Amino acid sequence: MRLVLLGPPGAGKGTQAKQLQEELKIPQIASGDLLRLAVRNKTPLGLQAKRFMDQGALVPDDLVLKLIEERLGEPDAARGFILDGFPRTLAQAEALREMLERNHQSIDLVLALVVPDQEIIKRISGRRTCKDCGAMYHTIFDPPRNVGLCNKCNGELYQRDDDAEDTVKMRLEVYETQTRPLLNYYQDRGLLRRIDGVGSLDDVRRRIEAAVKEDGKKA
Ligand code: AMP
Repeated sequence: MRLVLLGPPGAGKGTQAKQLQEELKIPQIASGDLLRLAVRNKTPLGLQAKRFMDQGALVPDDLVLKLIEERLGEPDAARGFILDGFPRTLAQAEALREMLERNHQSIDLVLALVVPDQEIIKRISGRRTCKDCGAMYHTIFDPPRNVGLCNKCNGELYQRDDDAEDTVKMRLEVYETQTRPLLNYYQDRGLLRRIDGVGSLDDVRRRIEAAVKEDGKKA
């Protein structure tokens, strides 16, 4: 199955994609994670991407597309994948369609997580990420067992630079102008399912799993 998870920053795409990859046995491919890794490794692409990310702006399409195309070409993505944070512009969605078409493939389902802005700001300001393995926590909703330390690898937890409140507001604006048009794009193609993203992690997971199952029956 080839899935896209859409939604504003902080809607829970990453958390839900991680659960879904266990369930469906297909990899989560998160453009933000791929970019952060490139920045950490100081690759030429990472060095170019960093200043856009620090401002909460989108990284230019050509850089992101290069990373995604490489990742989709890896063997574990042959049976399917969950795209998280990509596509984010209409140009990226079209490029993705063409990329898949070259291999006689297409997207099966697009799930859009719907969460109001106020809820997002509350969620993101408490978000903490592990420096070593990228696992995510929330100071209130999903705290680690030991304050400031990752449950999985004991790595140090930090607040991403782009999770500061001003940058979050900028990222929400970017979502409205550049990414929201994708909802209509996928709706017009009959691929979109809207999922209420408010509630416990388990509630949202169950809604997503129901939508995936229903779509599987159609196929
Ligand atoms: P995320 O982890 O998905 O919130 O992404 C963090 C940052 O990485 C974003 O604010 C953008 O600067 C950049 N980014 C991630 N995915 C994309 C994408 N598909 N297109 C452009 N920029 C992206």
